[in-house]
Amino acid sequence: MRTAVHGMGRMGERRALKWALEGYWAGRIDAAQLEAAASAVRRRTWKLLDGAGIDVVPSNDFSLYDHVLDTVVAVGAVPARFRPGLAGEGVSASAGIALDRYFAMARGGEIAGQTVAPLELTKWFDTNYHHLVPEIGSGTTFAARPTKVVDELAEAAGLGIDTTPVLLGPLTFLVRSTAVVGADPLARLDELAGVYMELLGELAAAGANWVRLDEPALVQDRSADELVAFRRTYERITSALDRPRLVVSTYFGHVGDAMSVLRDLPVDGVGLDFCAGPENLDLLERTGGLPDKTLHAGVVDGRNVWVNDLAASLALLDRLRDLVGELVVSSSCSFLHVPDRLADEASLDPAVRSWLAFAEEKLAELAVLARGAEGGPTAVEDDLAANRDVLASRRRSALVADPVVRRAVEAAPSDPRRSAPAAERRALQRARLGLPPLPTTTIGSFPQTAELRASRAAWRSGRAGDDEYAAALRAEVDRVVDLQETLGFDVLVHGEPERDDMVRYFAGLLTGFALPEEGWVQSFGSRCVRPPVLYGDVSRPGPLTVPWATYAQSRTDLPVKGMLTGPVTMLRWSFVRDDQPPSATATQLGLAIGDELADLQAAGVCVVQVDEPALREGMPLRRAERDAYLAWATRAFRLATRVAEPATQVHTHMCYAELADVVDALAAMEVDVVSFEAARSHLTLLDAFEGAAYEGDVGPGVYDVHSPLVPSPADVEALLWRAVGVVGADRLWVNPDCGLKTRGYDETVAALANIVAAARSVRAALADRRPGPGERDPSAPSGET
Ligand code: GLN
Ligand code: ZN
Repeated sequence: MRTAVHGMGRMGERRALKWALEGYWAGRIDAAQLEAAASAVRRRTWKLLDGAGIDVVPSNDFSLYDHVLDTVVAVGAVPARFRPGLAGEGVSASAGIALDRYFAMARGGEIAGQTVAPLELTKWFDTNYHHLVPEIGSGTTFAARPTKVVDELAEAAGLGIDTTPVLLGPLTFLVRSTAVVGADPLARLDELAGVYMELLGELAAAGANWVRLDEPALVQDRSADELVAFRRTYERITSALDRPRLVVSTYFGHVGDAMSVLRDLPVDGVGLDFCAGPENLDLLERTGGLPDKTLHAGVVDGRNVWVNDLAASLALLDRLRDLVGELVVSSSCSFLHVPDRLADEASLDPAVRSWLAFAEEKLAELAVLARGAEGGPTAVEDDLAANRDVLASRRRSALVADPVVRRAVEAAPSDPRRSAPAAERRALQRARLGLPPLPTTTIGSFPQTAELRASRAAWRSGRAGDDEYAAALRAEVDRVVDLQETLGFDVLVHGEPERDDMVRYFAGLLTGFALPEEGWVQSFGSRCVRPPVLYGDVSRPGPLTVPWATYAQSRTDLPVKGMLTGPVTMLRWSFVRDDQPPSATATQLGLAIGDELADLQAAGVCVVQVDEPALREGMPLRRAERDAYLAWATRAFRLATRVAEPATQVHTHMCYAELADVVDALAAMEVDVVSFEAARSHLTLLDAFEGAAYEGDVGPGVYDVHSPLVPSPADVEALLWRAVGVVGADRLWVNPDCGLKTRGYDETVAALANIVAAARSVRAALADRRPGPGERDPSAPSGET
């Protein structure tokens, strides 16, 4: 029985690619050195997979920045602003196009002397990986650019490893695109089919036996028309005489109505996810299976880190065997979403560690499953026995269950509410805070300086004591508070210097979490995160943020915003226990964070931001499941915030939220102010607020913190006027897109100064004119409604 893997992490050992990319961007290394580093990462990964006995080894799963951007290049859909000078220039083997053009699409840059804005970033389905959004407009042209995918096939072949090149499929590519002025991306499917035929022809000529096309868009609701178009596209693609065998892979859920379409598709294999989409089994049985096809059965979870239940997987494989032509034991999706290997984790509690499998351990699980599925349970007797012990030890462990937490969960209200309605809260808060119209604030973190990182490292390694570290952090808070006062901000933050990561910091102080040291997972480009492992009941042994918030408040007369990470984000950005429903875990988190909010309030903090950047990403991919999710997610949030008195202003922050889907949730969350990322999409997200039930204030980001470009006051003003036009001046806040943690100080100070300048100039202009219909008079004293 063959084994298959969708893909592996792209950073390489010790995140080699990250350092190379950042070195290249900073001008410390040249293109050749970057190419060499990228090639070393790819070669190491192929050898690793080959050595682990994986039969279907992917190529082109690697990316210098993002696989959706790679697909933009592969199908030639480079937007017009990046095209000047494109024809005839040299290409990078790792990018398939000139490196600087590639990075300009990813991060913004200069093309032919013009500053160009990058593509938008958005979450890859319900993961915390961000991809760049292809732009499809009437001017978009397609042309096959097979360089990268063909070169990688050859590069692996050079090592004697036969790989299956992977491409994002045409349906998913267009579904993940954005329409430029009224275009309908999906209308381009037929055209794109021709480009894929060409790519496949090139791959066949280069010696590819199989190619995998990924179509995770099939795990979302697709209309009958879309399925017809999908089928037509694949019929066309497969009609080429000279093509490799094709496997169409899906992941992140079940395929629903698409199962029968997949069954009849003239392709050679289908990939199904049985971890996120256990329904796939039933669907397969009901539609008669895939008797003439290869099934890549995704039984080893690419989205979580728990040891596989080998006996259960073998039982599942047994049922699948009779339903399909050939059965291949596979990952459920790319291992890009889990850390590389457990071997680097020396400091984890050995019990917790024994319950975990990262990517390399998952490769071993695949090999055992293939042996067991082929030779029967006796062929893997020892592995099964050891696996049973591990699962039993986890079930019985005293580390997992805390009776005190269980009792608190029992006692928690089923429909927690704040004590006053939105309008009343707003009046009380305005009277208390006395803010000007268009109040300015930031999202929380300030740049983490080299000195700060050095003091943290010294403290971690024991070279510096607690007092010394705390003094360094306090000095940083002083500096950040002074800076905000000088720049003229209205609601200050303490800058979060004590947090290396907004989830990890809290996880380190709560019970029930373990923190892998080297468990990096790519978030976007060179950025990686280390998700905590949430294995047990969650409680708060002591304050999490109170000393920092109160210290910062002691340094200024302006209000300082307390800063908490919300329960849903804690859950989504951790690897979460699978022995109870996520709703139960979210309740525990909501209660713990609520205790912290109560302490902040008691300490005199009058504005608290509870960040929920992951709320939208956690939305189930199928519409039918969304209400249930929003019900428990908003309840968890309210468990955290119900304790806020009416005069305590509750903010929340969301990242790249497709806001339309969560605007209604904002009303249910009873927040007073929401900020979100909007600069890169020119505030188009704001439209979602028109006619929505949410009555609170709105802070669309006016500075794109994911790009090194500093917006001018005029840029910011233009965005603000747009926002005034959509939501009115009365509800508008002025803030960057997100935290400033990853930016440098110089660019940050420049951008923040421009934000304040723009806010002041819009305020002045508004004061000079009569308020528009439905607008509050912006010159009226605040507190009045
Ligand atoms: N308060 C956090 C920060 O500023 C929010 C970050 C986020 O939304 N990802 O860093
Ligand atoms: Zn954010």
